[in-house]
Amino acid sequence: MSGPLLEFKNVDVHYGPIQALRSVSLHINEGETVSLIGANGAGKSTLLMSIFGQPRASGGQILYQGTEITHKSAHYVASNGIAQSPEGRRVFPDMSVEENLLMGTIPIGTAHADADMQRMFELFPRLKERRNQRAMTMSGGEQQMLAIARALMSRPKLLLLDEPSLGLAPIVVKQIFQTLRELAKTGMTIFLVEQNANHALKLSDRAYVMVTGEIRMTGTGAELLGNEEVRNAYLGGH
Ligand code: ATP
Repeated sequence: MSGPLLEFKNVDVHYGPIQALRSVSLHINEGETVSLIGANGAGKSTLLMSIFGQPRASGGQILYQGTEITHKSAHYVASNGIAQSPEGRRVFPDMSVEENLLMGTIPIGTAHADADMQRMFELFPRLKERRNQRAMTMSGGEQQMLAIARALMSRPKLLLLDEPSLGLAPIVVKQIFQTLRELAKTGMTIFLVEQNANHALKLSDRAYVMVTGEIRMTGTGAELLGNEEVRNAYLGGH
């Protein structure tokens, strides 16, 4: 495949009269870790969800592997290799860790389920210890790990992560980003949406800064970490 794995070309999204995305253009190449940073309400979750057509773009194009997916169903997108670990974790609370992981295989079937579950237990040893525990009784960090592992169970070509650090203690955030770094090293393509700009930029090859529905800036993670405007707005001026 030539060209980016995922590409937004001048994408608009409206919620009724409110325009949440304004002519957004961005791309993610295979093997890259790319993050999207921005304040509360900037439109980051909207952008991620628009990949699945929920909400549907009102203008522009979304391309995946060179094919337009702007008007495809969420099912089509998921079964073609894009998996999302949603904001707020949203694991199945009454199911065990193993059952949650099995749910992640729905887009591809269970042929590789046992081997993939072992792989997840290597990546997230804590989940192995808790394999029979119900998700609702686990800590926020453990549920976040489970949500990421569940997304990986569909063997995605592109992993979307919506605010994996949300509501977690700094030490747990550090662990999660360490695991994402390991995952990135395996060649996984990752698109990360984060308010925690510091961690996100350190992890990312490239990043985009979103302000009220528009891409305001782009650069390598290191460039944006060193950018004064970014530091003042998203890194507490440090
Ligand atoms: P957060 O980090 O708080 O989730 P965000 O950057 O992900 O913020 P979005 O949740 O995408 O931002 O919201 C972007 C804008 O669209 C906001 O002004 C929000 O109020 C609005 N919005 C989001 N979802 C809906 C909806 N279902 N109906 C109407 N407006 C919405």
